[in-house]
Amino acid sequence: MPEYEPVVGMECHAELLTESKMFCGCKNEFGGEPNTRCCPVCLGMPGSLPVMNKKAVDHVIRTSLALNCTINRDAKFDRKNYFYPDLPKGYQISEYDFPIGVEGYLDVEVNGETKRIHIRRVHLEEDTGKLFHVVGDESYVDLNRSGVPLMEIVTDFPPDIHSAEESRAYLTKLRAILTYIGVCDGKMEEGSLRCEPNVSVRVVGSETFGTKTEIKNLNSFRAVYKGIEYEVERQAEVLDSGGKIAQETRGWNDAKQITFSQRSKEVEQEYRYFPEPDLVPLEITEEWIEGIRASMPELPDARRARFIADYGITSYDATLLTDSRALSDYYEEVVKESNDPKSAANWLMGDLMRLLNANSGEIGTCPIRASHLATMLRRINDGTISGKIAKTLIEEMYTTGNDPDAIIEEKGWKTVKDTGAIQAMVEKVFAENPAIVADIKEKGLVQKRGFLVGQVMKASQGKADPQEVNRLIDALLAR
Ligand SMILES: [Zn+2]
Repeated sequence: MPEYEPVVGMECHAELLTESKMFCGCKNEFGGEPNTRCCPVCLGMPGSLPVMNKKAVDHVIRTSLALNCTINRDAKFDRKNYFYPDLPKGYQISEYDFPIGVEGYLDVEVNGETKRIHIRRVHLEEDTGKLFHVVGDESYVDLNRSGVPLMEIVTDFPPDIHSAEESRAYLTKLRAILTYIGVCDGKMEEGSLRCEPNVSVRVVGSETFGTKTEIKNLNSFRAVYKGIEYEVERQAEVLDSGGKIAQETRGWNDAKQITFSQRSKEVEQEYRYFPEPDLVPLEITEEWIEGIRASMPELPDARRARFIADYGITSYDATLLTDSRALSDYYEEVVKESNDPKSAANWLMGDLMRLLNANSGEIGTCPIRASHLATMLRRINDGTISGKIAKTLIEEMYTTGNDPDAIIEEKGWKTVKDTGAIQAMVEKVFAENPAIVADIKEKGLVQKRGFLVGQVMKASQGKADPQEVNRLIDALLAR
């Protein structure tokens, strides 16, 4: 059987963080009572006129700059005509032949190597409403989302992405950039960031592209990864058994972890685009662009490089820590107050991430304040508590949200430094384990020494000062 190479194009939609919708004054917010945030403009009533939201255009220019795009100074809006129940106007205002950003790229790290993913276009449009299909034959529509500013980012053709791994890296980096520059909250589960990959496979070495399918309803990074992986495998199997790939849209079933045929795409839909007559062209001035460029915050790549240079953490750690702005901000605060960048990275990506994952929590709303985590690191470093106790302490901090000093005091978790008390524990452990002591002293089985240390630490409930324990054990062994 031939070996196949996956070819993946990515179309991402990002709802923009603005106060109001794209062409009217209705509030732009997720959720809420259905159909309560609508007006004649976003309901598509005859005679209503759109008014452009400048902040949304700012956001798209900012994104285009962050993605190394050229800004189309003559960008304009067009009507994309089609009928669907979630689109009351019968057309969507979008950008067709002159999108705001063109010919950009972003670099991703995959398996320790940097790969450049080219971006074809970044454009601005309005979101549609949302349909709810109730069991039975009833459907409902919520138009709160109708007219929300939506940005579309499309990768270039021929595609640079050739695996599920690269797709995930691209999406992770894209989301990081969008959240750093504050244009989108990046919440895939709420649909404010949506990704529709198109996937095809071709025999390795072949110049021609295979027939592609588009995957929809992917609402997590994991789903995107699994969906592409599944689709690549499915297409290879179809081709291997002599079949043909149908050009179609496929849905993702997260419970079954499979894609399924939704609708055939044999005929490209004809949208009859024409320039939006109710809006003037954008005319993006040099001044406008430079103003946005001047206010651009530090981007993930720059922050990552700074973390490696200033904090001496590994490139791998720095990549993970700069995945989201919230996480890297949190990390920086812990570092600033603890002065221990390496431990901060370890605790953040180890125990704190584990706690967040186990509780479906997010760093933005983490019950442990960055300053509290910094205090905990200082208490480990100044010997007030042991690293072992800290493992329990961080759980308590997560559950209660309390100050670690208060918890240490209340629970009596301070390290025991009293030599007399530790000496008594060491002697007791020696008396209880004569065979082990004999093995070490007479047979030189020094590897058994760790057992004695463990027993003493256990007897002290993890509170004995490990240095002191080691010193006293050595002293007693030498006797
Ligand atoms: Zn409205």
